[in-house]
Amino acid sequence: MTDTNKYDAIVIGGGHNGLVNAGYLAKGGLNTLVLERRPFVGGAAITEELQPGYKFTTFSYALSLLRPDIVQDLNLVEHGMMVLPMHYHFQPGFNGEYLIFGPDTYENYHEIARVSPEDAEAYMDFGHVMDRVCHAMKPLVDMIPPNSQSDDPKELARVTELSAYMEGLDPDVQEMVQRLTTGSVADVLDEYFEHELVKSMIASSAIIGSKCGPRSLESGLVWLFHKMGEYDGIFGEWGFHKGGNGGFTQALARSFEAFGGTIQTDAAVSHVIRKDGQVVGVALENGDEFYADTVVSALDPKRTFTQLVDPNELPNDLVEAISNFKFQGTAAKVNFALTDLPTFPGLETRTDIFQGFVNMGPSIDYLEEAFADAEAGRFSRRPFLDGCIQSTIDPDMSPPGKHIMSCFVMYAPYHLAESDWDSERESLGDAVQQVVEEFFPGFGELIEHREVVTPLDIERLVGLTEGNIFQGELFADQMFMNRPAPGWNQYRTPIKGYYQCGSGTHPGGCVIGGPGKLAAKQIFGDLAVA
Ligand SMILES: Cc1cc2nc3c(=O)[nH]c(=O)nc-3n(C[C@H](O)[C@H](O)[C@H](O)COP(=O)(O)OP(=O)(O)OC[C@H]3O[C@@H](n4cnc5c(N)ncnc54)[C@H](O)[C@@H]3O)c2cc1C
Repeated sequence: MTDTNKYDAIVIGGGHNGLVNAGYLAKGGLNTLVLERRPFVGGAAITEELQPGYKFTTFSYALSLLRPDIVQDLNLVEHGMMVLPMHYHFQPGFNGEYLIFGPDTYENYHEIARVSPEDAEAYMDFGHVMDRVCHAMKPLVDMIPPNSQSDDPKELARVTELSAYMEGLDPDVQEMVQRLTTGSVADVLDEYFEHELVKSMIASSAIIGSKCGPRSLESGLVWLFHKMGEYDGIFGEWGFHKGGNGGFTQALARSFEAFGGTIQTDAAVSHVIRKDGQVVGVALENGDEFYADTVVSALDPKRTFTQLVDPNELPNDLVEAISNFKFQGTAAKVNFALTDLPTFPGLETRTDIFQGFVNMGPSIDYLEEAFADAEAGRFSRRPFLDGCIQSTIDPDMSPPGKHIMSCFVMYAPYHLAESDWDSERESLGDAVQQVVEEFFPGFGELIEHREVVTPLDIERLVGLTEGNIFQGELFADQMFMNRPAPGWNQYRTPIKGYYQCGSGTHPGGCVIGGPGKLAAKQIFGDLAVA
């Protein structure tokens, strides 16, 4: 061992959670090294100039649930963080129908009233309840969850306190939490709304990245989780980082380095080195070794527990829980370079409709049909698309006068029943292009370049098992006290000094930073008592 390969802490994986975790560790005075397998950091939050002048957000495309205090704690604005609002939601329907939502609640009320006066009233009631639900749930997102398996009286007291907190909520908030955490989003929306465009526009975030349809029981929680995203203190508002999410992770990297941290890229970790039950370092695939008494894996639970360490040396219940942990990725991404903006018939002059999310999935039945294909082991012949022309928000994303369009695609199951993804890549691209064409006639003529990212590509490139974008499904049995496994939900592992901080830990996936931040809190807590 030399001074040059000895650190206080090593973080495996330079995705955004690894960088957030490392940033807090370095800020707290630990000499910290980040080891990243790829030639650049960012993980699923990167921007790549794959065509000259066109910057693609290859994978994640919006800043969603980022925990607000991370921005201040890590001085991110000083390091170039700049979030541009994504105020608009455009929901094109068939037969010329559409809804345009913007930043103004009053105008949104009237926009819904245009298609259904009853739904406009219901929207105000629903928004009011949901705002209170999000405020009530926020403390749970931002806490280290109690350990339900512990016999430590402090942990048992925390479980009791949490139950009391939930029981103390207003009955209507409690009821909504109960319904969303155990039931389907469609069930709730059917009670409030009648118009399919309204319902499907709201429901779309219940299926993002998850193998469920809006009528599946898991969809309520997936929806609530996404609703917890906030921009400028407003729940449900998302933002676009200047230069894409790669711009955000570069700001994280600069912050970490300014606190004295070191990043080494092209450094794939092969395994964690342990001695007498304590972690002592890591070995790279090229044989290099680095040493530290604290090692944090920002990889998903499968890699953290069954690849970086020998599962035979872990408790059986943990290994079993991880082998049952559901990944089952079902999302893909298609990015386009365009010569001009597409047009929606009747709204040819409106470019604001692209400055946010364009939800192509105009009814609950449409979304369910797309899901039925995934259940049958094939990609949706008519997929749901969450599109965005990011160059209308940040013109530097494309050459002047030209545009990039990002389309998040549901559903594209990792396991195809009758084919494989290397054979189906371009057919998926064609299916996506056909849907965009249905809503925006003439779209095909605008395409200069198309990039199709399958779930297998997500696994190969980012290292997300089965291409699951959240490092594991956001289903109730895998959340909070169960993420990634009961008893191992507090960022520790059975190996002393070895921690976990990826999206497979609480609060979960998205560009959120919560796992990285909470893991750092746990590590400093443990170091203080050691
Ligand atoms: C197509 C797609 C679209 C998405 N869209 C959005 C969106 O718009 N908004 C949003 O909020 N979220 C979105 N998400 C989800 C979000 O991007 C992820 O949940 C999040 O980025 C995961 O971050 P992470 O840091 O936990 O893990 P990762 O980003 O997976 O980071 C893990 C890192 O570890 C590295 N690594 C793997 N193995 C090793 C090894 N052996 N040694 C060293 N390094 C290793 C990887 O290269 C990677 O950099 C999307 C994800 C995908 C895939």
